[in-house]
Amino acid sequence: MSIQLSPDRGSPFKQYLLISDFDQTLSFNDSGIVLSEMLGIAGFPGRIAGLSRIHMVQQGGELAYLLLHDPEYRRVRKQDLIEAGKRIRLKENIRLLSRLLDDLDGHRFSFYVVSAAPEEVIQSALEGIVPHDHIYGTRFRYDQASGEIESIVRVPAGYGKVAVLEDFRARLPISHDRIVYIGDGSSDVHVMLHVNRLDGLTIAVSENKYITQIARRTILSDDALSVLIPILEDILGWNTTRIRALFDTHGFLLQEWDKVRTDTLTISKAPGNSTPGVEIQ
Ligand SMILES: [Mg+2]
Repeated sequence: MSIQLSPDRGSPFKQYLLISDFDQTLSFNDSGIVLSEMLGIAGFPGRIAGLSRIHMVQQGGELAYLLLHDPEYRRVRKQDLIEAGKRIRLKENIRLLSRLLDDLDGHRFSFYVVSAAPEEVIQSALEGIVPHDHIYGTRFRYDQASGEIESIVRVPAGYGKVAVLEDFRARLPISHDRIVYIGDGSSDVHVMLHVNRLDGLTIAVSENKYITQIARRTILSDDALSVLIPILEDILGWNTTRIRALFDTHGFLLQEWDKVRTDTLTISKAPGNSTPGVEIQ
């Protein structure tokens, strides 16, 4: 028998950890695309696809690799990353989401961003919305004289996200099942499997088939507040009326809320099956 100490001792709140990816989860486009367009470097998607295909780096870590090794990206400096961050188009209402998560009917969700995007890009994009010490992105070491990227300190991509999560769990007094992870792409697969195993809540915000098959919930919206819905339903046990009322309190209308469960399948004849007269159309 094991005895668990309550992580809420001395706090009026039930404490949770909420970790969100950045690119295409809190924003609309990949940081690498925004940076490449800004610098006039063509062919970014092709380079990423090539790197991704050979599995040279963890899924999501391709931009970090290019910044360190690709001759065209070697000219990127810290200032360029900060500037690219200013050009990132964010999803609506991230600030309000962060504020509401602080006290959701007695539940406090500490909001962290863990992403393979360069840390400077995320910090710059979320300036004044998420504090810097709640942002864990790819961190570079710069050459002091030239300002060139000299080496990589960490890349929170793929399994690298699990490592960051485990570091949080070691430092923060959060019980293992009080974790929420939100992500959109294949770089989030490892960490979502890990959070599921811990009995936490995983939320996909895209239709990426690798993610939607793993995440406990999928929610598609241009508004960051949408992730509150699975949290309110699955953790706080709220019904739709109460959820609508909360949005209403903050001046929002849940205009279209379609609850759809889609099974997509392809059926073909099994090889070697010669049973006559059976046809599936
Ligand atoms: Mg992403």
